[in-house]
Amino acid sequence: MDSNDNGPSRRQVVGAASIGLAAMAAAPAVAQSSGSTPAGPAKISDPRTKYPKPPFKEQKQPWPGLQSKMDPVPDCGETSYKGNNRLTGRKALVTGGDSGIGRAAAIAFAREGADVAINYYPSEESDAREVIDLIRREGRTAVAIPGDLRDAAFCRHLVAEAVKGLGGLDIVVNNAGRQQSQKSILDITDEAFDATMKTNIYAPFHIIKAALPHLPPGAVIIGTTSEQAYDPSEDLYDYAQTKAATMNYVKSLAKQLAPKGIRVVGIAPGPFWTPLQVSGGAQPDKQMSFGGKTPAGRPGMPAEIAGLYVRAAEDGGSYTTGNVLGAGGGQGQP
Ligand code: NAD
Ligand code: MG
Repeated sequence: MDSNDNGPSRRQVVGAASIGLAAMAAAPAVAQSSGSTPAGPAKISDPRTKYPKPPFKEQKQPWPGLQSKMDPVPDCGETSYKGNNRLTGRKALVTGGDSGIGRAAAIAFAREGADVAINYYPSEESDAREVIDLIRREGRTAVAIPGDLRDAAFCRHLVAEAVKGLGGLDIVVNNAGRQQSQKSILDITDEAFDATMKTNIYAPFHIIKAALPHLPPGAVIIGTTSEQAYDPSEDLYDYAQTKAATMNYVKSLAKQLAPKGIRVVGIAPGPFWTPLQVSGGAQPDKQMSFGGKTPAGRPGMPAEIAGLYVRAAEDGGSYTTGNVLGAGGGQGQP
């Protein structure tokens, strides 16, 4: 699907510009839009009716879940995200880029002109293939690097493969996350606690260490944190503290890396409709009413947060570092 399917595509605009002055006079709107401003009014939609509201059908998948099997399938901007050259030539690694929020960021990055490497767990290959195809359809380089982020050696291998496949690296998105709801701390096994810490805290540590020598001034490290960092739920004892850790490393690392010209930015989603929630992340009752308690009355769709990742990464965001950007549906922080 073309990134500009609701307006003139870049190909149409370039084509119009190359067919000569007579044609330009005949199609002034298109000719005038050959700069960076798209033609026509900006789209406006009612957030109340834009996406489904709870109740959702009860659904449960084995971890880590596939978004293609969700009902409704999350909207990650596959047909709606329009790019505007905001990241042309940039080189991005996105963990958890197969589904949900990471998929939306990967699609947006490619539509903005970036080459993108995605990491995912091997059982998510079918979701990941769709993202790889979408990136390639934009004419960008797509690199698929499956593997388990709980393994430090794999994290280092991941960065090396991304640098090799992309020919460098200047956007690193630590987005992958593990969330397994348990009503009681007594039900969290040592192994489960360890897996959550390894995925959400250790993996970003190993990835950032491996990536840093490759990052030029102007590069950005982005961490997906959560409203859970600020307002933790009773059934997310282990997960919520990892999101507080993410929010915290964004702030310390931003201070450490500003003298090197590298920015560090957090993104804090509120409740978003993704596989995380139907593969152990939410209790069944919470999954069915998911997002219903927000003032918005519904969960966010990943397409509604993709723009924040672009904002965090683009050159125009050069003074945004040590900050956390949010999309919370009216509740939560920041
Ligand atoms: P998601 O299930 O689509 O994405 C999570 C991804 O993490 C998976 O696709 C998987 O590829 C990856 N992952 C997990 N464990 C892994 C491992 N051991 N090895 C390799 N990859 C692994 O769900 P999402 O909601 O898009 O999650 C993305 C991020 O957003 C997570 O960090 C999550 O904590 C955060 N978040 C989500 C919500 C929400 O309501 N969905 C809210 C706040 C924050
Ligand atoms: Mg997934």
